[in-house]
Amino acid sequence: MASQMFCPHCLHSQLTPFANNNPVADFSCSQCKEQFQLKSQLPNFGRKINDGAYGVMIKSIHQNMRPNFFFLQYTVDYYVKNLFLVPSFFFTPEVIEKRKPLAESAKRAGWIGCNVLLEKIPPEGRIPIIQDGNILQRKIVEEKWHKIEFIKKSPLIERSWTIDILNVIHQLKKKDFTLQDIYQYEKALAMLHPNNFHVKDKIRQQLQILRDKNLLQFKGKGKYVLK
Ligand SMILES: [Zn+2]
Repeated sequence: MASQMFCPHCLHSQLTPFANNNPVADFSCSQCKEQFQLKSQLPNFGRKINDGAYGVMIKSIHQNMRPNFFFLQYTVDYYVKNLFLVPSFFFTPEVIEKRKPLAESAKRAGWIGCNVLLEKIPPEGRIPIIQDGNILQRKIVEEKWHKIEFIKKSPLIERSWTIDILNVIHQLKKKDFTLQDIYQYEKALAMLHPNNFHVKDKIRQQLQILRDKNLLQFKGKGKYVLK
């Protein structure tokens, strides 16, 4: 990563590694100052990924201190098979699962770890860099990040809403959809946001935001197209 990876945020030609065992991140970009953590493994990443301490993770999310995350899958002979990026702002409490405390017999008894639920991160937040051994164009990687970066400025609760609505749209598994299609998820969304009593209003507001940011197109009469 240090010798070959570029910065996917500003396209600076390389990333600078931090000293070993830095608890915050593994790399930073000297140009735009974005920080990155790297998780690499042989198996497929699947639906969830085991990560560090639950409390530390949740605290860093609330403090906006998460680094961006690279997920790298390598082959048995150490070639990169897949590499994708999850920008820091896709880490919300909804994508973090609390694990069971370690058993009394364990060295760190009572310690609580967490899982990152990759399945709860919409495709906009899983930006491919290498797919099945094929390297994607740097410019495309950068564009994907910048297209969704607007949510970084939103307060955490708003960001969760945008991510939830994106997830609902992708669950529909169709490019063309209607407002009614999204309203079908009203109850599920209300459960995720128990303090919001105007879920339908919120759905319309979020769809408007996604349209303004060029992720959706309005066709009129409650019809939308995912771009
Ligand atoms: Zn950069």
